[in-house]
Amino acid sequence: MDAIVVGGGLMGTAAAFFLARRGVRVTLLERNRVGTGATVASFGNVRRTNRHLTQLPLAHRSLALWNEAEAMLGRDVEFRVTGHLRLAFEDDALQDMRAYARAALPWGLALEELGSNELRARFPGIGPDAIGASFSPHDGCGNPRVIAPAFAEAARRLGCSIVEDCTVLSIHHTGTGFTVETSRGVFGSEVLLNAAGAWGGRIAADLGEPVPIAARGPQMGVTEPLPHRILPVVGIWTRRAGADGYLRQVERGNVVFGGAADRVAVDLDPGHARPDPAALPRQLRAILRLVPALADVSVIRTWSGCEGYLADMLPVMGPSAITPGLFHAFGFCGHGFQLGPGVGETMADLIASGHTDIPLEDFRIARFSGAVS
Ligand SMILES: Cc1cc2nc3c(=O)[nH]c(=O)nc-3n(C[C@H](O)[C@H](O)[C@H](O)COP(=O)(O)OP(=O)(O)OC[C@H]3O[C@@H](n4cnc5c(N)ncnc54)[C@H](O)[C@@H]3O)c2cc1C
Repeated sequence: MDAIVVGGGLMGTAAAFFLARRGVRVTLLERNRVGTGATVASFGNVRRTNRHLTQLPLAHRSLALWNEAEAMLGRDVEFRVTGHLRLAFEDDALQDMRAYARAALPWGLALEELGSNELRARFPGIGPDAIGASFSPHDGCGNPRVIAPAFAEAARRLGCSIVEDCTVLSIHHTGTGFTVETSRGVFGSEVLLNAAGAWGGRIAADLGEPVPIAARGPQMGVTEPLPHRILPVVGIWTRRAGADGYLRQVERGNVVFGGAADRVAVDLDPGHARPDPAALPRQLRAILRLVPALADVSVIRTWSGCEGYLADMLPVMGPSAITPGLFHAFGFCGHGFQLGPGVGETMADLIASGHTDIPLEDFRIARFSGAVS
């Protein structure tokens, strides 16, 4: 079997790698350089807490692959099992935390509940005013700059052809396969995977399956390097708009942060998401509640990235409902970094064998049939 993968973000490169490992001849087409879309902009959170419950089987599979990534890809992708700590400052937030923890347990996610004393003893300086927290010890973070190039390199070693600076201009279903016109010539294949991120909606629409997707840019920032004190990724349970900040400290000391800000609208042409300077004060107030010691620290850079958000905040994953041989994996709504390796393996299973054990019912493209024209 041969396959074309459109898009060289985390989803496309991971799918290319797992397809090549299953003996499929893969050509990956990326209009820029691999990993330079939403993937490189990611905060790097490998988090399962507060995911949509039906996404947890995929998230568990992905976490197992993050743990294997270095051995599998032959490169340290800086996956670190730091744990994910999520603070609650209000009673309603604590109730939401407990309700989620109860609901997630049958789905295989066991969250520890920490009272305020235990929180302060285990994580001094983090959330001193919090009334409780959840802790997910097996979660962590990875390096968004490294993961897609690492998958692409490993795929290349398995014989996959990675074609960069190659914009897909049109795709035609021939009846038995696909003809893909690009800025670097015409390619053909039996099957095609649409892994074009925020741009995936265009490809789906061109092939007769429009979906309600918007391109948006979450707001991120990073501080100067500081002595390393914050081990876990830190987030918050809250119903308060503008309070939902999150942060992590990378090994060289900088604190990366995000949340607590509206996502900016992004024009898909050219797809450059800009940081909004007006968002920064609100973000800083939100993260100071998580770690007050960050009060006098300099922010050295802000950025954003172009991500696809479906109307129901769930991705599109699975076979096309109308075109044989066409598969979709796009629109990961700001939470695809954790899922990426699992998405790649699941799509490879589906394409190579026609089957996957991972439930994809909630992510099927046909859920929007008739909703968009
Ligand atoms: C600022 C930010 C922070 C985030 N933080 C987190 C986080 O902490 N944890 C988490 O789980 N998720 C996070 N996410 C989400 C996560 O990064 C994305 O869901 C994930 O990286 C999406 O990967 P992708 O491969 O689908 O898309 P992308 O990385 O965008 O890749 C799609 C690729 O398709 C290419 N392409 C598009 N059109 C064409 C065409 N016509 N021809 C050829 N190539 C084309 C693009 O150039 C692009 O490289 C964050 C996202 C952003 C933007």
